[in-house]
Amino acid sequence: MGRIDIELGAASSLESADSTLARDEIRERVRRMFGIANFSYAGRASHDFNDLASAILADLGDTETESFRVSARRADKRLAFTSPEVEREVGGLIKEAKGWRVDLADPALTIYLEMLPDHTFYFFGKEPGAGGLPTGTGGRVACLLSGGIDSPVAAYRMMRRGCSVLLIHFHSYPVLSRASQEKVREIATLLTKYQLRSRLLLVPFAELQQQVLLAVAAELRIVVYRRLMMRIAETLAGQWRARALVTGEVVGQVSSQTLENLTTIGASTTMEILRPLIGMDKDEIVASAERLGTFPISIIPDQDCCQLFTPRHPATRVGLAEIEEVEHRLPLEEMIGRAVAATSVEDFRFPVLKYRVA
Ligand code: ATP
Ligand code: MG
Repeated sequence: MGRIDIELGAASSLESADSTLARDEIRERVRRMFGIANFSYAGRASHDFNDLASAILADLGDTETESFRVSARRADKRLAFTSPEVEREVGGLIKEAKGWRVDLADPALTIYLEMLPDHTFYFFGKEPGAGGLPTGTGGRVACLLSGGIDSPVAAYRMMRRGCSVLLIHFHSYPVLSRASQEKVREIATLLTKYQLRSRLLLVPFAELQQQVLLAVAAELRIVVYRRLMMRIAETLAGQWRARALVTGEVVGQVSSQTLENLTTIGASTTMEILRPLIGMDKDEIVASAERLGTFPISIIPDQDCCQLFTPRHPATRVGLAEIEEVEHRLPLEEMIGRAVAATSVEDFRFPVLKYRVA
């Protein structure tokens, strides 16, 4: 396991009045960086035991503790002293200055030392990082992002595995309101804090739905919508060089997510479909969405495009033959081409939290 050393500027140094603010902001950002198991604020000093102890004592200020220990690690085994020696010597100097009790087994405070070839880092604790893999190492995927609870969590999970995620949203404006687009922009802004750059594709879907309305029985429409979404998303993913589609689908959560319907929906594309939430319970997904911060946005009422012209009880077992039969009545190629051509692109960046309408 390697380490990354980030040197903080003057604003975050201990002498600065803004140091707590700057440190809190830095902590928040580092916490969201995938690929980091844990992190610490570390001070830097020389190998000289007296130097090291004074630097540590200066940083500890008037900190008080019941008991302490020094825990040293030598990154470079060629150094002229052993770890136990450093622990004993530096620990002795701190004990002398502070009068604290040494407790090797269960100390209230651990002072960590990491001895590198030309200096020593010292720190007083480790904070858990975001885990996962660094952004971009997993390649690009395209997530079908509704304004709901599930798909933002699905996008986040793929980001955490190192994928950069292209976001695709289907909306039914102007037949329905712009609310879903506003929600999705907010969700995209939030997700961008993790991958730092996002591209959101907004696909107008209402016209296609009106064509489906005229040609397809009510209880089959939702599956036809989904298959259209998959095909459009596949084309857009191809344009933007994404290798797989991601959805927030979960087995059995709603009528369109029976195993039969998922299979029929999946058969509309040859691109790999990743469903990172497939076996999760709703309360687990809600807990993730709350941690992520998307939950309050997702529960804002809107009119989801899937509710347009669909009955309360859609068919739960739609086979491929049945759906292909009704799709024959639709000019699929032309519909997909039209939606792709009418798609608009918005780019997001963190820390610049602005979006631009293209
Ligand atoms: P979510 O909470 O993500 O909206 P859901 O439980 O409402 O999911 P569905 O409405 O069946 O379930 O949607 C299943 C998946 O299809 C979503 O997770 C999302 O990936 C995709 N999807 C649905 N509606 C849209 C949309 N308007 N735009 C983009 N993707 C969508
Ligand atoms: Mg939904």
